[in-house]
Amino acid sequence: MPTTELTTDVALGVTIPSRDARGRIARLGPVVDAVLANHGYPPLIERLLAEALTLTALLGSLLKEREGQLTLQAQTQGGIIDLMVCDYLGGALRGYVRYDRERLADASRNPALKELFGDGYLAITFDQPQANERYQGIVPLEGKNLGDAAQSYFAQSEQIPSIVRLAAEKRGEGWSAGGLLFQHLPEGEEGRDRIHTRLDHPDWPHVAVLAGSIKPEELTDSGLPLDDLVWRLFHEEDEVRTLPAIPLAKGCRCDPDYVRSVIRRFPAEEREAMVGDDGVIRVDCAFCSTSFSIDPGEVV
Ligand SMILES: [Zn+2]
Repeated sequence: MPTTELTTDVALGVTIPSRDARGRIARLGPVVDAVLANHGYPPLIERLLAEALTLTALLGSLLKEREGQLTLQAQTQGGIIDLMVCDYLGGALRGYVRYDRERLADASRNPALKELFGDGYLAITFDQPQANERYQGIVPLEGKNLGDAAQSYFAQSEQIPSIVRLAAEKRGEGWSAGGLLFQHLPEGEEGRDRIHTRLDHPDWPHVAVLAGSIKPEELTDSGLPLDDLVWRLFHEEDEVRTLPAIPLAKGCRCDPDYVRSVIRRFPAEEREAMVGDDGVIRVDCAFCSTSFSIDPGEVV
C-alpha cells in the first residue's frame, strides 16, 4: 500500500471517540509556492494567502464526497483587499487575492483582518453534488487572523464548538504553512441533527486546551510528521484514530475550451472589442496566471 508522507502538502483527519471530537491537521509547502508563483504578491499578501489556503485545506478535508467542493471567499468594503478566493476539490487547491498595492504599502506590519478587509465578510461554501447538498455560511472578517474568523463561523453559523489555528512562515525560498481544526461533535463524525449540540459539553474544554497548546512553529515545521504532532497533543487520550491522509496539490480547473465557451456568449461587437493589436483575444486566469490566446475565429 502506498504511504503518503505526512510532513508536507497533506491533510490528516483525526477522531477522539471518547471525547466526541474530530479534527483536521494540514501542512502545506510546495503547494503554496506553486499557487503564489507568477503573481508577484508582497510578503504580507503571500502570508495571508498561505493561511487562507491552509484553512481551505482544513475545511475541504471535512467534505465527505470526493467530488465535493469547498470555497472560501472574502468580500470586502473599503479594505486594502477587495477580493480573496480559494477553493478545494479532491485535494486540489487554488486561490488568489486582489488588493490595492498603494494602500498596502502604508499598512501596519501585522495588520488585523479589519485593516486588510475593511467591513468585510467571509463566505464559506460546502458543496456536495452527490448528496445535492450546498451550504453557505457567512461571518464577519474580524479578529487577528483567518483562524479567528473560521472559529466564529463554526460557533455562529453551525453552532459547533471549534478551535482553529493557522500559521505560515517563509523559510528561505519557500513557504511552510500549517493549520489545525478541532471540533466537538456529540453525534460523531457523521453527525445527526446538530440542534442538540451543547456548547458547554464537559469533554470539549479538555480537547480545546490540548489542541490549543499547539505552537505556530510546530504547525510550520515541515520536518515534523503530522501523526507525530497528533501524538504530542493527545497521547494521554484513551484512543485517537487517524483517517486516510489526503495529499494536497495545486489544481486549477481553467481550460481553453471553457474560456472559449464563455467568450462565445458575448455579443459579436463585444467579442470584436476584445481582440488585441496582435489579432488574438487574451484571457488570463486569475487563479493561476495562465494566459490563453484565443483566435477570434474560434469563438464566432
Ligand atoms: Zn487557472
